[in-house]
Amino acid sequence: MGWDFETDPAFQERLDWVARFVREEVEPLDHVLGSQWNVHDPDFVRLVRPLQAIVRREGLWACHLGPELGGQGFGQVKLGLLNEILGRSRFGPVVFGTQAPDTGNAEILAHFGTPAQKARWMAPLLENEIVSCFSMTEPQGGADPLIFTTSATLDGDEWVISGEKWFSSNARFADFLIVMAVTEPDAPPHQRMSMIIVPTATPGVEIVRDVGWYGESVHAHAYIRYHDVRVPAGNLLGERGQAFAIAQTRLGGGRIHHAMRTIGEARKAFDMMAERVLSRVTKGELLAEKQMVQEKIADSWIEIEQFRLLVLRTAWLIDKHNDYRRVRRDIAAVKAAMPKLLHDVAARALHLHGSLGLTHEMPFMAQVATSFMLGLADGPTEVHKVTVARETLKAYSATDELFPAYHLPRQEAAARARYDMRTIDELVQADG
Ligand SMILES: Cc1cc2nc3c(=O)[nH]c(=O)nc-3n(C[C@H](O)[C@H](O)[C@H](O)COP(=O)(O)OP(=O)(O)OC[C@H]3O[C@@H](n4cnc5c(N)ncnc54)[C@H](O)[C@@H]3O)c2cc1C
Repeated sequence: MGWDFETDPAFQERLDWVARFVREEVEPLDHVLGSQWNVHDPDFVRLVRPLQAIVRREGLWACHLGPELGGQGFGQVKLGLLNEILGRSRFGPVVFGTQAPDTGNAEILAHFGTPAQKARWMAPLLENEIVSCFSMTEPQGGADPLIFTTSATLDGDEWVISGEKWFSSNARFADFLIVMAVTEPDAPPHQRMSMIIVPTATPGVEIVRDVGWYGESVHAHAYIRYHDVRVPAGNLLGERGQAFAIAQTRLGGGRIHHAMRTIGEARKAFDMMAERVLSRVTKGELLAEKQMVQEKIADSWIEIEQFRLLVLRTAWLIDKHNDYRRVRRDIAAVKAAMPKLLHDVAARALHLHGSLGLTHEMPFMAQVATSFMLGLADGPTEVHKVTVARETLKAYSATDELFPAYHLPRQEAAARARYDMRTIDELVQADG
């Protein structure tokens, strides 16, 4: 029997340290600093670098990585327990060296990069000396990568890239972009695109404008035009035509890590909701004493715990199989459940705070906006639900009969035949 919901006491001590450190040292940064990817901002250097040094000394830097890349080789379950604490703070992931999209970009460089690419791009990325950007989505539609048109052609020993990308997060802070481009136009649909590393300073990379989602203080999702951008042929990441396969490596980890952090964000809303209902008196009693309020507390607690179990079980499956593709359905399920969880808990917390909850003086509207962001980034919820349904139905088959296999008369007839029992009608006839 392998089921165990206990955290190892030694690791729990580490988690307790992290929880204290995040609350006391990291959360305050959320209120005073700009983008967590602006690593050259003097205030970032002054305030974040010393905290990162402490995390390194504690042996908790970049815990998503295996020891061969300088991480702890925690695996996904331990990482889940850590990330749900880091998710309470905007700066939590960067202080611990686990922030998206750099984690996913480092992961594909580790899996598919050449030694030269690893030395030039991955090594400084893992140290957070630089940040990176994943440039895949196009303005005409992100949920269907088969309609992407940005192209790259080989001209001598250079790739020449042209096209447009949309929502390339943090491009303005990134040293390099990983661009997904059509290099094999005549190949089957899922083998037409490749990944190419493009230094952001390359001539022809134009950031048309930066957009932000509602409530974001720093706008950093770039609308980019690539005007015949030339990079060396050696900047191809992985094999030609393998972009889809590579993207799956990257996105699987990214999605579950977002989900782990979402637990922290939802718990934060829950904690505030709990404090409020125990503090506010209306019509002679605490909000906490009113049954409709209790229902909101109960629903929120149940939903957070259900989601947490789904996330940790999925993390456990990833550790067990060590292959995101085998856990595709479970990761898609977590991704689909995540926005609704945060939305519902944050909306209840907002509502229970009354007018105050709706204001810019409380974080709830930002959390509700974040819930919508979580339903879009890394693919819309509908697409992930389709994956859950498709993968799940693989275990089932159709019946050739007109009536269902589980039609009760048929089941009863089979059972009676098996136990040699007569029907009620036959018994009545026999008695008559
Ligand atoms: C905060 C944030 C950060 C992002 N960062 C990056 C990044 O760094 N790099 C990058 O390349 N992209 C990034 N994206 C883009 C993201 O991947 C896309 O927004 C997403 O894939 C959806 O594409 P779209 O926005 O074009 O919406 P569309 O493809 O136009 O979809 C719009 C809506 O149509 C519906 N829909 C779509 N497909 C289906 C379907 N199969 N079945 C049913 N309904 C469907 C859904 O309701 C969906 O929300 C980011 C997005 C956000 C919000």
